[in-house]
Amino acid sequence: MHYVIIGGGIAGTTAAEELRKLDPDSEITLISEEYHALYSRVLLPHYIKGKIPRERVFLKKSGGAGSGSAGESWYEEQKIEWLTGEIVLRVDTKNKFVELLSGREVEYDKLLIASGVEVKLMEQDLPGLSYLRTLDDADHLVELLRALPKDAKVGIYGGGFIASEYLNIFHEANLQTTIAYRGSHMWSRGLSKEAGELIKNQLVQSGIVVLENAKEIEFLGDKKIEAFLTNGQTHPCDLMGLGVGVAPHFSFLKDSGIEVNQGIIANQFLETNVQDIFVAGDVAEYFDERYGRHLHVASWMNAQMQGRCVAKNMFGEKVSFDLVSSYAMDIVGIDVIFIGDVSRSDADETKMIGSVNDGGVTEFFIRKNQIVGAILVGRNGDRKAVTELIRQKATGAEVEALLV
Ligand SMILES: Cc1cc2nc3c(=O)[nH]c(=O)nc-3n(C[C@H](O)[C@H](O)[C@H](O)COP(=O)(O)OP(=O)(O)OC[C@H]3O[C@@H](n4cnc5c(N)ncnc54)[C@H](O)[C@@H]3O)c2cc1C
Repeated sequence: MHYVIIGGGIAGTTAAEELRKLDPDSEITLISEEYHALYSRVLLPHYIKGKIPRERVFLKKSGGAGSGSAGESWYEEQKIEWLTGEIVLRVDTKNKFVELLSGREVEYDKLLIASGVEVKLMEQDLPGLSYLRTLDDADHLVELLRALPKDAKVGIYGGGFIASEYLNIFHEANLQTTIAYRGSHMWSRGLSKEAGELIKNQLVQSGIVVLENAKEIEFLGDKKIEAFLTNGQTHPCDLMGLGVGVAPHFSFLKDSGIEVNQGIIANQFLETNVQDIFVAGDVAEYFDERYGRHLHVASWMNAQMQGRCVAKNMFGEKVSFDLVSSYAMDIVGIDVIFIGDVSRSDADETKMIGSVNDGGVTEFFIRKNQIVGAILVGRNGDRKAVTELIRQKATGAEVEALLV
């Protein structure tokens, strides 16, 4: 049996590790566009802030120079053929092989697509602009931060997870920071007005300048960024962090017959519509039985657990993927936690506990009278109880009881 995996992130690598345990004599090929051994994207901000040394972000031994450690690599130990710096250009589902940029064709019996998401880039490019997805991006940001002049001013464009990482990184470095986002508040499509106000208050209290409804932006500068222009105002800036979104990485599936929507469509077993082809991690749009609909979740735990589950299914078991996923962060001192299915447009109704005056709100998302998700801002203490309610498929009435 030859298992081929596209993507050496946490989903792909976990699947490879599990497959090796389940099927010791199989052939496993892991194709990775990046050159580094598996590292934690979650730890990148800690490395950038100088809280941990660079080598601590690695989760597997590379055995090579540069990334990780010397000696035999984890991949060799596990007898996994690890193709680094290789890009899959095409999947031929009829003849069961993938074509690589190098020209090589790799045949598979079972294929896993775990290609993650790619960062949306701005049209303009200028030195001093920073993106944050990969270890190479993190190295670049460390260099930019080191080169900043005294009394530097920094900017952020975006209002989601990556913008929040930049807020924390710049705040911790005591940099004069201005954030501009397109919406009326952070995560404007997902968060309530109250939650948005709480976060904004925290940013302003922390000395961060907030520019809302910044639909367009222009970067100004000759050899490097010197300022940005939005809503008719120019803001000086020596470094700009960009977090304007990500898109699932599946352009190489064109004409493959594999069904895609926002992500690659899969059932509850993480099987695509094409036999012997599976999907896991940020790129998957899988059917979640708990919520009765397809979900596209981008979080570390989700990707890792899907890697484990999909390996079992590739081996021949039939295991539904089931996880109440969550994504928690602290943005310059206020907790923001997303749990479960928090799509506002798919919810029948929402209910809220707390208020701006209380310093925190928890908003529940209810569909077909079942609690499917919640967003907590400034109310970390609710996390355990709320996760349990979602896990137990509690009803809207049970939330009503909490409200009185
Ligand atoms: C800075 C940062 C902080 C984060 N913090 C958190 C956090 O606190 N909590 C949390 O839950 N999540 C966090 N996340 C999100 C989390 O890291 C991701 O959800 C997770 O890493 C997704 O893993 P994955 O394996 O699905 O995809 P990825 O890690 O994106 O891996 C996919 C790999 O596939 C490769 N690839 C793509 N296309 C091809 C191709 N055609 N050929 C070959 N290789 C290809 C890519 O280069 C990539 O290396 C953070 C992310 C970032 C960037």
